[in-house]
Amino acid sequence: MPIPVSQMWTVASYVVRQKLKGRKQYPLTLMLEPLLRCNLACAGCGKIQYPGHILKQNLTPDECFRAVDECGAPTVAIPGGEPLMHPQIHEIVAGITARKKYVYLCTNGLLLKEKIHLFTPSKYLSFSVHMDGDKEHHDLSVCKEGGYDIALAAIHEAVKRGFRVTTNTTLFDGADTKAVRGFFDDMMNAGVEGLMLSPGYSYGKAPDQQHFAGRDASRTLFRRLLSNRRPNWRFNMSPLFLEFLMGRRDFECTPWGMPTYTVFGWQKPCYLMQDGYAETFAELLESTKWEKYGHASGNPKCANCMVHSGYEASAVDYTFGSLKGLWETAKATLFPQYLDATAQRELEMEKHQSPLVQIDLLQTGSPAPVDAPLQGVKFQRGQKIDDGLEQAFDYRGDVTIQLKDGSKLEGYVFDRVRGNTVEESKLRIMLATDRRRVSVGYSEIEEVVFSGRDWADGKSWQAWIKKYAERKAAGETNIELLPETEE
Ligand code: SF4
Repeated sequence: MPIPVSQMWTVASYVVRQKLKGRKQYPLTLMLEPLLRCNLACAGCGKIQYPGHILKQNLTPDECFRAVDECGAPTVAIPGGEPLMHPQIHEIVAGITARKKYVYLCTNGLLLKEKIHLFTPSKYLSFSVHMDGDKEHHDLSVCKEGGYDIALAAIHEAVKRGFRVTTNTTLFDGADTKAVRGFFDDMMNAGVEGLMLSPGYSYGKAPDQQHFAGRDASRTLFRRLLSNRRPNWRFNMSPLFLEFLMGRRDFECTPWGMPTYTVFGWQKPCYLMQDGYAETFAELLESTKWEKYGHASGNPKCANCMVHSGYEASAVDYTFGSLKGLWETAKATLFPQYLDATAQRELEMEKHQSPLVQIDLLQTGSPAPVDAPLQGVKFQRGQKIDDGLEQAFDYRGDVTIQLKDGSKLEGYVFDRVRGNTVEESKLRIMLATDRRRVSVGYSEIEEVVFSGRDWADGKSWQAWIKKYAERKAAGETNIELLPETEE
């Protein structure tokens, strides 16, 4: 059984209760990010490119519990960053499982063996280990040779100690489906309870922008991958969401189904996009203009998105929306083989793909994107300051703002609220000196200077690619890209 019956029952009865109450927008899984720093710097990740004072922040256990209680979702996923780098992660997990919430503690596995003694096996806790395919693909995807072996050893240890263990795998354009199918076998043999899959989201701030798949490419990839399934594969996901990935059905995004709480607050509109923050979950639901998001909205940032945090809750909602939904889910659960001769033929014809992220870039020599450098640029009142403030919101570095009264604020702009007039518009800044979040009206601002470095400029990644090529040519092994941090 891929998901324990007690968990299925908890989720099912919760969703039915929401339906009976007539709630259209309800959360299914809270995505709780207690920190943004990580011990890896993956090429396809757009989550860690921040100034040091942001990366050093941790949500306190009480802040985490408040978010869990406000939201009320029956499951809580804890991604990051790397949650095991949080000094109180065991207290956070213990507090949430004590609330009888099902926790998926997402980890890249590097610290799991070292910290596993801090946790107690429970039906409410599953380690969700990030594994991006077989050894060759995983190591390149996470920019660390040997990363797969460490994570696999951690999985063995966790299984041996009686923990629930799942894996989460992000697949990018050009993934080698035969190799991924072999990886599924390996994970089942390792004693993993179930697999979780998602296509990569095209993070605008991720170093590698070339391997995010469009919707058609994703459907082709998942049809080949998930048709003609081996009977021993178990998935810890909605079977209808897997059908959605395979192109067998369509859903619209329900971003409120997996809301995100981070060091900045409740993130609008979803786990992937940062279009501002709310202070409370109720404010998130009320103040987000949901019609601006999702595939049907025409928002270009949503155009290729099929990720689980947008669409799995839609699949679960469909399941419990009608008898038809229940019947189709039961059918997909009982008959998961999906025999498909065309997919089988395509799979057999597929040639082995070289690991797709950095190696491909090394071969083609194509560079990671570098934003137009803004560091040092200054916008003053009367010089399109509105444009400057909008760019400050998109900038992954600190800015210094001089107010009309002569005072200065230095920090990271994490939100902007556009009103109908300049007087109604404001920026929200996390100050570099402390964790204070302050709000400044556009009309109060005299000047904005992009004073800090843009941590999403792709330079470190490009440097790593170059170094990787040189060191590989010299026969070196165990090459890794470490996240850059400010002293
Ligand atoms: S489609 Fe949904 S989950 Fe994807 S980026 Fe848009 S709002 Fe977020």
